[in-house]
Amino acid sequence: MRRRLPIVGLQRLSLVDYPGRLCTTIFTAGCNFRCQYCFNVEIVLEPNKLENISEEETLNLLKERRGFIDGVCIGGGEPTIHGALPTFIGRVKLLGLKVKLDTNGSRPRMLRRLVEEGLLDYVAMDVKAPLDRYQEVVCAKVDVEAIKESIRILRRGRVDHEFRTTIVPGLISEEDVKEIARTLTGSKRYVLQQFKPGKTLNPKLRDLEPYPEEVLERLRDMVAPYFSECKLRL
Ligand code: SF4
Repeated sequence: MRRRLPIVGLQRLSLVDYPGRLCTTIFTAGCNFRCQYCFNVEIVLEPNKLENISEEETLNLLKERRGFIDGVCIGGGEPTIHGALPTFIGRVKLLGLKVKLDTNGSRPRMLRRLVEEGLLDYVAMDVKAPLDRYQEVVCAKVDVEAIKESIRILRRGRVDHEFRTTIVPGLISEEDVKEIARTLTGSKRYVLQQFKPGKTLNPKLRDLEPYPEEVLERLRDMVAPYFSECKLRL
């Protein structure tokens, strides 16, 4: 029997998850990283405790909502750890909807396949830290070559994309942002994301004060020359 994509959450309407589009956001179960600032705690640590939403139910909802939305954002968790992802996206595309993938870039083989099969319209890839500090930030074993390969796949430009980094005080410094920008230099779009305290994987970050907006603006101005487009997501 064909494997199904484990879907554990749906946000029927999002104005922010897919740049320039109204979308429904789909959350897939589980992740191979344990980023300290992650706020999808249950999805990452205990997806089995969440309600499983079938592919059919999800596709029916998308079919119903086609008049209201023009895109679907698939995130998680980390969607690319699931072998069922390409077939599911193929089914979404048949509904005439644009598909955005949120990924941590750790599975370049899956990413390449999705790009080559024309299944994606937009990819947002997190670049979590300078390559030599990755493990420390994502708290998991990381194949840095895989991250580099995913960056290369997207930079080839077959699919519209952005790279993005969540700027967490005490975890990502000004020098780190500069180093990430050097790694990504010449890329089309880079987004600095504001850290949001709350229910984070690392409890120590739960009450952490985010950087003031002016600090993020200064960081953006510092690295903007490396990119065609560089912006803040607050
Ligand atoms: S923030 Fe990190 S741990 Fe959370 S879903 Fe994304 S990659 Fe996984």
